[in-house]
Amino acid sequence: MRSLVWFRGKDLRVADHPPLAEAAASGEVIPLFVVDPFFFSPERARSLPHRMQFLLDSLACLASELAGLGSRLLLVSGRSVDVLPRLALQWRVDQVLASRWVEPFGRERDRRIAESLGRSGIPFRCLEGETLLPPGSVRTGQGGMFRVFTPFARACAARLDPSSPLPPLASLPPLPPDLSGPFVPVPSLEALGLRPNPRLQPGGSRAGRARLSVFLQERLGRYSLERDRMDLPSTSRLSADLKFGTLSVRQVWRAVADQGGAGAAPFLNELLWREFSHHLLWEWPELLDRPFRSGFAGFPWREDAASWEAWCEGRTGYPVVDAAARQLRAEGFVHNRARMVAASFLAKHLLLDWRLGEAHYMQWLADGDWASNDAGWQWCAGCGCDAQPWFRIFNPVAQGLKFDPEGGYVKRWVPELAGCPAAFVHEPWTAPRDLRSRLDYPEPRVDHAFARERFRATARAHLGGDGL
Ligand SMILES: Cc1cc2nc3c(=O)[nH]c(=O)nc-3n(C[C@H](O)[C@H](O)[C@H](O)COP(=O)(O)OP(=O)(O)OC[C@H]3O[C@@H](n4cnc5c(N)ncnc54)[C@H](O)[C@@H]3O)c2cc1C
Repeated sequence: MRSLVWFRGKDLRVADHPPLAEAAASGEVIPLFVVDPFFFSPERARSLPHRMQFLLDSLACLASELAGLGSRLLLVSGRSVDVLPRLALQWRVDQVLASRWVEPFGRERDRRIAESLGRSGIPFRCLEGETLLPPGSVRTGQGGMFRVFTPFARACAARLDPSSPLPPLASLPPLPPDLSGPFVPVPSLEALGLRPNPRLQPGGSRAGRARLSVFLQERLGRYSLERDRMDLPSTSRLSADLKFGTLSVRQVWRAVADQGGAGAAPFLNELLWREFSHHLLWEWPELLDRPFRSGFAGFPWREDAASWEAWCEGRTGYPVVDAAARQLRAEGFVHNRARMVAASFLAKHLLLDWRLGEAHYMQWLADGDWASNDAGWQWCAGCGCDAQPWFRIFNPVAQGLKFDPEGGYVKRWVPELAGCPAAFVHEPWTAPRDLRSRLDYPEPRVDHAFARERFRATARAHLGGDGL
């Protein structure tokens, strides 16, 4: 049996990789990555620089880990819908195995490839591995999809298979000798017109394993107390690893569950939020462009280019919102609490369409992931899957005082406020006049009480009644 294992950006590891394990157990293995010129063009790379950097690191690491097992990652340039069927025939493979994607465009691509391979009699199978449970398999008692997180999480927890990740592979068979290319190397950032960003976390399974180990040793014990603190390194920073599959979610779940302690349950609950968003996207692919609460369709979002630019550049005059904007562009990461405050501010305070923010985050986040990002944005804008009513509105000052009490997060990313005493750092407009004049920081773009009432009145008028 000769298997082609098609790696494609969300499963860049050798451990706990069901397609690779199955292929290895059944005979010859050909690991392949297709370098699609559309995705790997300088123009496209510039539109997602941080994800591209993490991806290239991860591909290089995958190539080296496959070589360490005695195999080799082959890279071929072209569109996957053309390349895959052609190579599968040319290399006389008996099956093509890959990891399943939940995104509608990935599903459509897989349908076309399965059809094309099928015409040559070559089976194409997508195996599970991106989520803990197969998407679509967690349903309500009535057989429908879950629309709210808590009952979903309960149903998931009841069904979770406590089995361990797959055992590590000791070796892989060498590549069959009769394969011809042309093969290409892992593209470099420079060739794509990008300069490496040294502030980004390194990608790849090795770096991911090191991050997981630091989290287990230094942070998990305090996670339940500190995970919302924007100023502390209290969370795992594993989101890009889970997005690119440099670690499997099952590996992370197992490592944390085995270690246990007070932090384990809240952390595993966060993994279930990820699970929820992936299952949601599978069940309702419209998540990527339509509001989940249908009453929000046609919502009268404002057009206000100056406010949009101020939000993107971190000049709204609300320190946590501005810190989030600047951290995003500098590091390709934003703390979850700051993401929530910044996203809510865009939609509810500025009354700008959440889809603008969603696309901006996908451009700059290293962990940019369609399911989690769209679910997160819709939740923050009030139109997503949420048990809370749409009119709950984050107060950016109160959030800052509570989750960044000394202002360390804000001062790190908004250096104009470095000299501001903690008492004023989340509302610098209340500082004495002489201090304010020295801060060189903008006045708030919009008054909080005014913005809250404006959003509520607009939403009430649009949604009618209670809006649901
Ligand atoms: C507006 C908005 C946009 C977001 N966009 C993304 C995105 O593009 N990609 C992404 O991975 N996460 C996204 N999130 C979720 C969350 O902010 C990040 O997963 C988290 O901040 C990553 O940091 P961490 O790995 O240190 O998290 P930890 O606290 O260590 O959590 C562990 C893991 O659980 C998962 N997780 C945690 N919180 C959530 C959540 N609310 N929803 C889904 N999964 C979660 C992530 O995989 C994370 O790595 C978004 C949240 C919001 C509010």
